[in-house]
Amino acid sequence: MTRLLLHTCCAPCTTYVYKWFKDSEFEVEGFFYNPNIQPAEEYQKRRRCMEYYSALSGLIVTYIENDREHEPGNCYLCYENRFRHAAQFAKSNRFDLFTTTLLVSPFQKHDLIREIGKKIEREEGIGFLYHDLREGYYKGVEMAKRFNLYRQKYCGCFASIPAPAPNGAGPAEAKK
Ligand code: SF4
Repeated sequence: MTRLLLHTCCAPCTTYVYKWFKDSEFEVEGFFYNPNIQPAEEYQKRRRCMEYYSALSGLIVTYIENDREHEPGNCYLCYENRFRHAAQFAKSNRFDLFTTTLLVSPFQKHDLIREIGKKIEREEGIGFLYHDLREGYYKGVEMAKRFNLYRQKYCGCFASIPAPAPNGAGPAEAKK
């Protein structure tokens, strides 16, 4: 069986992606490394939710906490940093390939994800698996609701936090 390290951005995105790769005969483990998530309280919410989902689903997840520096709004550096850590961990722990749960989100930059994933593949010497899973986004949302997972309203960094609605009703529903 092919061993696949799945970089996990959050629990809701992991639901569908984990199931899809497991059903496709991969042996999957998760890797939670997301220094882009701001502020710290939001990071803790997403991490706790990942731990909860991990216990629920049986997905083994490694959590890496170092290097919390992050430049808000620079998606290139954000993807590159997270993918590099995932690739290095995958290589040193004898995985065959690495990939990311970002592949399920229609709000992420898929061309950039593929470009950076392939760059890291060449530089680190371990394959990056790109597969467009956006068709499963709403199934993942339904799974997240069923499991009662915390569903955040923005991608992660301060630059991605939506502005409050003009009528003072709080942030508009945002894209993740
Ligand atoms: S918008 Fe998302 S991907 Fe881009 S820098 Fe912010 S957290 Fe990273």
